[in-house]
Amino acid sequence: MAGDERDSPIGEDKLCIEMLGAGQEVGRSCCVITFKGFTIVCDAGVHPAYTGLTALPFIDNLDWSTVDALLITHFHLDHAAALTYIMEKTNFCEGKGKVYMTHPTKAIYRFLMSDFVRISNAGTDRMLFDESEMLASWRQIEAVDYHQEVVLGGGLRFTPYHAGHVLGACMFMIEMAGLRVLYTGDYSREEDRHLVQAEVPPIRPDVLICESTYGTQSLEPRLDKEMRFTALIHSIIKRGGRVLLPVFVLGRAQELLLLLDEYWEAHPELHSVPIYYASSLARKCMSIYQTYIHTMNQHIRSRFNRRDNPFVFKHVSNLRSLDKFDDKGPCVMMASPGFMQSGISRELLERWAPDKRNGVIVSGYSVEGTMAREILSDPDEIIAMNGQRIPRRMSVDYISFSAHVDYTQNSRFIDEVKAKHVVLVHGELKNMSGLRAALKSRYSDREEDVQIYMPRNCEPLYLSFRAERTAKVIGSLASQPAKPDRPIDGLLVAKDFSYTVLAPDDLTEFTGLTMSSMLQRQHVSLHVSWELARWHLEGMYGHVDEGVDDAGVRCMRVMNVVDIKQPTTHELLLEWESSVSNDMVADSVVALLLGIDSCPATVKMTMHDHVCAHHHPAETSATHASQLESLMAVLEAHFGDVAMLDVGGQPMLSASEPSDPYDAQAETSMAMEPSSSATASTSDATDRPEAQVATTEPPGKENDERPALDRLLELIQGPVRPAIKVALDDDPAIIELETMAVHCLTETLKQRVEKLVAMIQSTSETLTDTFRLAPVCSTMLFQGKHSDVEMPAPKIEEAVPVSM
Ligand SMILES: [Zn+2]
Ligand SMILES: [Zn+2]
Repeated sequence: MAGDERDSPIGEDKLCIEMLGAGQEVGRSCCVITFKGFTIVCDAGVHPAYTGLTALPFIDNLDWSTVDALLITHFHLDHAAALTYIMEKTNFCEGKGKVYMTHPTKAIYRFLMSDFVRISNAGTDRMLFDESEMLASWRQIEAVDYHQEVVLGGGLRFTPYHAGHVLGACMFMIEMAGLRVLYTGDYSREEDRHLVQAEVPPIRPDVLICESTYGTQSLEPRLDKEMRFTALIHSIIKRGGRVLLPVFVLGRAQELLLLLDEYWEAHPELHSVPIYYASSLARKCMSIYQTYIHTMNQHIRSRFNRRDNPFVFKHVSNLRSLDKFDDKGPCVMMASPGFMQSGISRELLERWAPDKRNGVIVSGYSVEGTMAREILSDPDEIIAMNGQRIPRRMSVDYISFSAHVDYTQNSRFIDEVKAKHVVLVHGELKNMSGLRAALKSRYSDREEDVQIYMPRNCEPLYLSFRAERTAKVIGSLASQPAKPDRPIDGLLVAKDFSYTVLAPDDLTEFTGLTMSSMLQRQHVSLHVSWELARWHLEGMYGHVDEGVDDAGVRCMRVMNVVDIKQPTTHELLLEWESSVSNDMVADSVVALLLGIDSCPATVKMTMHDHVCAHHHPAETSATHASQLESLMAVLEAHFGDVAMLDVGGQPMLSASEPSDPYDAQAETSMAMEPSSSATASTSDATDRPEAQVATTEPPGKENDERPALDRLLELIQGPVRPAIKVALDDDPAIIELETMAVHCLTETLKQRVEKLVAMIQSTSETLTDTFRLAPVCSTMLFQGKHSDVEMPAPKIEEAVPVSM
């Protein structure tokens, strides 16, 4: 039923807690905790009031093969007795999950379960499992120590802490993907004759799953109830009666035996009255208790160190079975099971009930639906196992020795644990509701935001958690105490959902990781000169360092981050050490270099020889190129668009003017940037781009309305030769490249351009000294961004459109 529900609502940070048992009840404890793909199950008990399959938790609600770990808090049947069934009869074994419990729990569990199998299988054919199955699964249980952190990998771990209650009982602090859940199981905060009290774990959990057996009740102080207990027993014996103490084989029984043995020692008049411990397991279990004395409290350990073994009782005898019991007068009989559902305790209850001298003292928590609970209502008669009605005249008393917390202890513990979410389990609805109400008002009085939940069986509880995580600062970074306003600069290392911040130098020492730096290389294919690239870079970054690298290759360094080299003529190589900020600088350099191509100021060197009618002097090759680039760059900075054209000569083809508008368009695109000032200045579709105008347009009829450029070109005589055109407010100026002569219709513009040209000529010598272009660039052609244009060389002068 919950399968679908469970799948869908679990988001990134949703914790799901589903009780398969012990939700608003006591018995069959089984709590499923799911978070970020991890599944942990705490406890697998049976319900003492039921038998057979009905006693099991709602195990069908879980795909047991998905369980990562099954943790058993203690050996009580309501926490552990369904374990064999789950391990042997579900698909648990198909998964990778293992079962964990403490060493004493594992040792006692085995004997207890043998007894359980024997008792629960007696007279029933609905056998849950047999002894061999129990033993087979028992062998696979992993025993752990208190405070031993068990790492299951991938951010899943747990640590058992002392829970008091019974020998071996523990709480589990479970960490799943950084989220911590404390599952208490049954616990007690009172140190008794042999156990340590439950400890508050040193780490604060996000969620506390807490028992609530006694709700808001207050339990009697230990010494008071011990005195009341011994006095009651003494008085029953004095009136000639028999005392029945129904107990669990293990746990409180040992505490009561210690108490009685002490009392008998102090009262010689009682030495003739036998104390029996009627359990076939008693002797075996006593040896386990003796084995684990080191996990018990100081009182027991110091007695043991004085060679006074407290578990060797002077006044208690074991009774293997009732056949060997000579029932002939006052005695104290401690008999299991505690709930008197069957077994020795039930048999003796039925036998002794009619005699008013006798007395039964219920000393543990009596679960609803059991004889132990029924007898507390002082019934006039009880129903025997065989269905017979038996009068009840014996006295009935209840003195709780069950080692659970009462309200004062539980609420104080919940305070100390400081979880923001408290989930109450293992309590009857009435007790649990009372506790919840008491806790709620306690926290609202204090204005603390603590949520209290009490989920029912099979009703999943979902809790959302913000993905806020804490990182520990370690190593040299931690040498300075943190200050609120001072940011910490270091490496964030995430492992299994735990985070640390440390200095890069500490990385190897603290994490075993090594640091490596990544050298990034980017090749940019670019047909521009070194100087032009540098000119653009300086424009963007201000200063650019220039030098040689380790191999003696000339190198520019931008922003102290990116090195630029020129391995071949038409290629620039960028190198930088990768980092977030360095990559950003490198990206901007690449963008800038790639933009040079489309920049109008840029001269492109074509690999194709430009075949044309005019003659190119030999001296205009190597040094010319860089000088020209410098010239173009400076002119562009001053005037914006710069265009190359040929001047002089006579019109070559007056007859074969392009007839198709497409041709004109194509040539326009090839010859110049669409946004050039020349285009902007001409609104007439018949206007031709200057380069083409110069070579293809015949000097037409005299017309002063013609563009200024046409009129200027007409003035330039001589052979066809390359030149550069700039313009200021539609007023063109032409610089001849071979002579650097300046032509202009306006004198002021002419002078200004001449000044610039002179300045370039004076500085370009140093540039040409340091940089040599390959002689292949015998000529230059301004092509805008159309670097792939194939020049149909023989036909260009016939104004045949070029292919694009
Ligand atoms: Zn228990
Ligand atoms: Zn319990």
